[in-house]
Amino acid sequence: MSGIGHLAAGFAAKPVELKIPLWVLLVASETNDILYFLFAFIGLEHKAVMTMDFNQGVKYLTPALNPWSHGLFMSVVWSLTIALMGFLFYKDRRSGILLGLVVFSHWLLDFLMHSNLPLFFKGSPLVGLGMENSGIGLLFMTIFDLVILTAAILFYYRTKKRTDLSVRP
Ligand SMILES: [Zn+2]
Repeated sequence: MSGIGHLAAGFAAKPVELKIPLWVLLVASETNDILYFLFAFIGLEHKAVMTMDFNQGVKYLTPALNPWSHGLFMSVVWSLTIALMGFLFYKDRRSGILLGLVVFSHWLLDFLMHSNLPLFFKGSPLVGLGMENSGIGLLFMTIFDLVILTAAILFYYRTKKRTDLSVRP
């Protein structure tokens, strides 16, 4: 349930808080999907079978319901958990908040893409703008993902160059 656009949040966040390694931010941006694979592996959630093309968009052949990894309520819980872990690890409120925001950015991007994100658990309303449900929407999201990822990487490297220069004697 993802695109590479999620990584944009990790790249964009790095210059904001230099003490958090880039890989930690990139992993944080994919927290929901990592949990999805984990939960599917242990049988808590099920991997949906789907087809994907730019004519029809994404068609789910089996129901995709992933409240533990992609529900709004649990996404808030995961974001707060990671924020707290970041706060305890870095002993810095700002780092914790930033990590939590990066984690939650995943749900926001998925909200644009999907239309089957549960608010809470099984039986609760499903939300999302569902761009993936049409060919043109899926194409738009693919381009959108590439654009935000490229912009975030450029932002990251430009700021990195500047800080590298200022660190040097
Ligand atoms: Zn996802």
